[in-house]
Parts: sequence; structure tokens; C-alpha cells
Amino acid sequence: MNRHDLPVRLAGRPFDQRRQLPVPYVNEHGPGSYDFAVVNGRRAVECAREQLCGACGHFITRQLTFVGGLANLLHNTYTDPPMHTACTDAALQLCPFLARPRRRPRPTTATAMPAGYRDLDRSRPLAVAITDGYATRLTATADGVLLEFHPEPWQALHVFAYTDAGLVPTAAAAGADAVTDLIQQLRETHRD
Ligand SMILES: [Zn+2]
Repeated sequence: MNRHDLPVRLAGRPFDQRRQLPVPYVNEHGPGSYDFAVVNGRRAVECAREQLCGACGHFITRQLTFVGGLANLLHNTYTDPPMHTACTDAALQLCPFLARPRRRPRPTTATAMPAGYRDLDRSRPLAVAITDGYATRLTATADGVLLEFHPEPWQALHVFAYTDAGLVPTAAAAGADAVTDLIQQLRETHRD
């Protein structure tokens, strides 16, 4: 995927020429200022309040897609805002960490990962889950206040594993009951 293949909404974002990545809405910190490693807390709150996609910054009311690891899924807690399904598909293809898994990220490039991918443990599954709503909660931390997203029951779940060939789909479920069953399977399979 190159810049011209981006979903229309994402194509309108500022573009980092060096990394060949659109700048996610939540990673923009001011005009011409962005950091792929640091979520702008004000933007995250704005996404929650105005119902915006964390990647493109446009309105999103249904088919809200949350990307995270198993811990996010099992605890039903996310710190990155949801995205459009199309924006998520693009992110999965564009993220240098995901698209070129053989390239060992150096410390300097590790910070170049788009929001949502920084802290993922590659020995664990990646979960892409879709819902139509969420609640938010502010939690006090040592550094200040953390905004958490708590999705409503999932409509669909897609599970991926990291391999030498990249991200490979390993399981999927559609419908709340099937998703609940799949999450239970994952909980048992990956019990530490
Ligand atoms: Zn979007």
C-alpha cells in the first residue's frame, strides 16, 4: 500500500515522508508537530467526546474497531481510541513493525510505531475487535489521568499471530456469543 492507496479519510492526514506513513489524528500535537510514539491526551479525549476515529479524526459511530493485545481483549480496556475498519486495515498494512516483521526495530525506530502497536508483545496474539459503542473512564495514575475505553459487547473478532512472514490470521468469530466463546478459548490457550 502506498500513499495513493490510502482510504480517503486517511489520505487527508498529514504525511510523514520519511516513514511513508499518515500521521494518526491522536499522534498530532500541534500544527506540523507529531510523535508516533506519544498519544496526544487531549486528542484522545476529543475522540471520545466527539466520536472521532483515532487514525483519521473523522466521525465514527458504528463498526468501531479496537486494536490491541490479548490483555486489552481480556480486560476489555483500551487506551487508544477506536478506528474505522478501513483505517484499521490500512494501519495493519502500513505499520513498519507489522508490515516488515523481519526488520528488527532499533530503539530509535521502536518509537516510530503508530499508536496502538508500541506495547504489543509479539509472542501473543494481536486482536482486532469490532463493536458499536463504548464507555470511557478516567483513571488516576502516577503521571496524571489516563483515559480508558471500555467497549460494549463485540460484534466480531479477528485474531492474528506474528510470524516471520508477517501477520497471519489465526481465528475469527462473528456475533456476540461466538466472540465470547473465542475469547474464552484464547484465555485458556494463553494462560500463563
Ligand atoms: Zn478513520
